Amino acid sequence: MAKRDYYEILGVNRNASEAEIKKAYRRLAVQYHPDKNPDDPQAEEKFKEISEAYAVLSDAQKRANYDQFGHAGVEGMGGFSSGGFSGSPFEDIFGDIFGDIFGGGSRRSSRGRRGDDLRYNLTISFEEAAFGLETKVQIPRHQTCEACGGSGARAGTSPRTCPTCRGAGQVRYQQGFFSLTRPCPDCEGEGRVIDDPCRECHGSGRVRGKKTISLKIPAGVETGNRLKLAGEGEPGTGGGPPGDLYVVITVREHPIFQREGNDVICELPVSFSQAALGHEFEVPTLEGKVKLKIPAGTQTGKVFKLAGKGIPVLQGYGRGDQLVVIRVETPTKLTPRQRELLEEFAREGGEDIHPMGKSFFDKVKELFG
Ligand SMILES: [Zn+2]
Ligand SMILES: [Zn+2]
Repeated sequence: MAKRDYYEILGVNRNASEAEIKKAYRRLAVQYHPDKNPDDPQAEEKFKEISEAYAVLSDAQKRANYDQFGHAGVEGMGGFSSGGFSGSPFEDIFGDIFGDIFGGGSRRSSRGRRGDDLRYNLTISFEEAAFGLETKVQIPRHQTCEACGGSGARAGTSPRTCPTCRGAGQVRYQQGFFSLTRPCPDCEGEGRVIDDPCRECHGSGRVRGKKTISLKIPAGVETGNRLKLAGEGEPGTGGGPPGDLYVVITVREHPIFQREGNDVICELPVSFSQAALGHEFEVPTLEGKVKLKIPAGTQTGKVFKLAGKGIPVLQGYGRGDQLVVIRVETPTKLTPRQRELLEEFAREGGEDIHPMGKSFFDKVKELFG
């Protein structure tokens, strides 16, 4: 089935402002939200569609790509589809938008409140990104209170259903012609009231703490990649499910390597006599030094490929290459003797030993006489 135009889905025109897009999205998202349309697959489909459209149009870069290339311009952007990495913008949107609609940054579910998603920024070295890494990190987050098992009520007692909202957590009120809902003021949207709060957590059902989490970062990750650990976010309240933890990767710059896709680029400074006469170098790679022989007459900008010495393909097979880019360096701070030799060299010169220069000045002569 052909995908519908994102602007059409949100019902905005192509030069709509960010605010207009956000407003249109909110209106539709509230209308089609699964919580409001339980067991309605059509509404769910629609909700996914508008969320996807919003994810693209609310991001300046993705929107520009979409404007230029259509759906093809944004496909596969933003991450991975499997192995615990999530490319879906879905979860972010809940944090962002539903935060202010449903309160507290959490999505309300029929059973309690879902815990917040957490973000943890992890900075790793170039080599760790290339080969993967197993590490443990400490995530500051709430934990279910052990004293009350998360109920918030003192041990031996239990919360009772809020009489004001009858457990719904929301109350209806009238504004003009509209019947709207807002969180119940008596239970603050929890749907239950605690008469005798737990002393450890003061009735919240959770305590501050730190959780040590083992992370397995796959080989080949790049800055901006996100690792999703489902259920490792903040615990839910009132029996709600926990949020998710997102580990966002930043890869430190390397002093000599640069990355381009899965290839590693490395510039090799070469003296002009080495370039002219040929030379054997020891070139650094991700796994130690290898020998690289450049032939006599090597020009600056010439690229030598060290096959298979690049970065492993993320969640795939094979590796990129290392590309060694030759930079011929013009000597500076000559001694008088070196200067003398170079002047002699120049006198000896002639055009034939500089083939590029020769052909360039031939062309200049053709053009300008
Ligand atoms: Zn209530
Ligand atoms: Zn407690």
